[in-house]
Amino acid sequence: MSEETFAAASEIPSEQRSSRMGPLSEETGDSPASSSPCSPERHRDLRLRVGARVACTEAEGPGRRFAVWVQGCDLRCPGCCNPEFFARDGGEAVAVGTLADELRAARDLYAITGLTVLGGEPSEQAEAVAALCDRARDLGLGTLVFTGRTLAELQTMPEARALLDAADTLVDGRFDARRREPPDGRRWIGSTNQQIVHLTPRHADPALWRGHDHVELQIDAAGRLTAHGAPDLLRRLLKNMS
Ligand code: SF4
Repeated sequence: MSEETFAAASEIPSEQRSSRMGPLSEETGDSPASSSPCSPERHRDLRLRVGARVACTEAEGPGRRFAVWVQGCDLRCPGCCNPEFFARDGGEAVAVGTLADELRAARDLYAITGLTVLGGEPSEQAEAVAALCDRARDLGLGTLVFTGRTLAELQTMPEARALLDAADTLVDGRFDARRREPPDGRRWIGSTNQQIVHLTPRHADPALWRGHDHVELQIDAAGRLTAHGAPDLLRRLLKNMS
């Protein structure tokens, strides 16, 4: 059956908390000298390899959210619905500062309330994902991260410390095609082994996780049609359209 846990930040061993020590600029290899260790400016030039992003969706977590599909995943779960995000060299490298500007614009234009990071595997770019989540929080947005690694695995990864500090909620664990979440199960969850881990109370209301998944179709400014949301529904939609 479904797993939903609440892990207060204090349960994460203190030695695994984020030190947020200076990320290096990819372009210069230097830490910006003028910013403090906690300054958002310190992370502006840090780059996240992104496979796709949507400025406003109601299909990828509670409420209206900005969704970022990160590029690159070494876990390769059989039956994964997003194999196009496996390759590390796909997508595009986008500065965290650019994504933060897009977050701010989406908040002001669409009244989004959160950021969802999915993929691809966020923990394989943990520093940049953590920096983006920090910026989202600075904007008053909640942060939801779908990761193929379990909380226990992330807690053993020093590079994931900042990510655990910056996420309000994780959906953790490999997708297991033999244990698909039933249609009347939890929303947005692929398989029953995956846990919803609330690191803060932000998304902890169980009612947020009930209801039916759906698919969204969007046409961007360039006229491109994109579809995202529940993979099974998407497959049926594409089959009916073909
Ligand atoms: S961790 Fe996620 S993106 Fe990676 S293979 Fe598994 S389901 Fe797919």
